[in-house]
Amino acid sequence: MEQHRAVVIGAGIGGLTAAVALHRGGWQVTVLERAADLAPVGAGIGLAPNAQRALDVIGLGDRVRDLAAWQGDGGMRAPGGRWLARTDATAAAARFGGPLVLLHRATLVDILTSALPDGAVRTGAAAALVDPGGDRSPARVATPDGEIEAALVVAADGIRSAARHALFPGHPGPRYAGCTTWRVVVPAPERPFAPHETWGAGRLWGTQPLKDGRIYA
Ligand SMILES: Cc1cc2nc3c(=O)[nH]c(=O)nc-3n(C[C@H](O)[C@H](O)[C@H](O)COP(=O)(O)OP(=O)(O)OC[C@H]3O[C@@H](n4cnc5c(N)ncnc54)[C@H](O)[C@@H]3O)c2cc1C
Repeated sequence: MEQHRAVVIGAGIGGLTAAVALHRGGWQVTVLERAADLAPVGAGIGLAPNAQRALDVIGLGDRVRDLAAWQGDGGMRAPGGRWLARTDATAAAARFGGPLVLLHRATLVDILTSALPDGAVRTGAAAALVDPGGDRSPARVATPDGEIEAALVVAADGIRSAARHALFPGHPGPRYAGCTTWRVVVPAPERPFAPHETWGAGRLWGTQPLKDGRIYA
């Protein structure tokens, strides 16, 4: 039977997840990523149970849940250290149907990529949607190596998506909400600590342990 061809623009979390789902559904998938490689960039990322349910659909939920590290207490603190609210990992898991999993973004990218066939992800491949196609004609995507035709194109090229702009030129695009975030991963402190967020006036700080022993802040 002829395999339908899908092209995914962007090898971020969204693009890779869509690619794994399509591959499992029998599609021949090519992921085009403009970055030179899938270097282990970023810091930590939090996956709540609803995100894990999406990963269950593509057979990767258990691998991600194995990386859950938060145990015991946590909560929210005032800037002086006073607890505003306490949360217990077990109670949170019972309430929301599973643990909150904090992992390094690069680990998630690795897990997703490992579920794709060799060669499915092409890096150094900035792509542009030339023609979205129609009922009788395939979509066309420009790449540095020439055009690709596909029955389906997934626009997963991030927050400033050029593919979205091509399809919806009137879309206003992202608007700065006034929040800037720095994310870091650091070695674990010697003393045990309770994962928490500290809420101050216009400021927020959070720390969570990762399974590999480091701390995501
Ligand atoms: C490098 C990076 C590091 C991040 N680190 C963190 C983190 O540590 N913690 C956290 O919580 N969130 C992080 N984020 C954000 C988080 O991953 C995303 O907000 C979320 O996962 C949404 O994913 P996405 O797939 O929609 O978009 P993104 O993750 O932004 O992925 C979009 C991808 O499309 C590629 N792309 C863009 N234009 C083109 C083009 N024309 N052709 C081909 N490829 C293109 C980009 O290079 C990128 O890899 C990071 C995002 C990026 C890109």
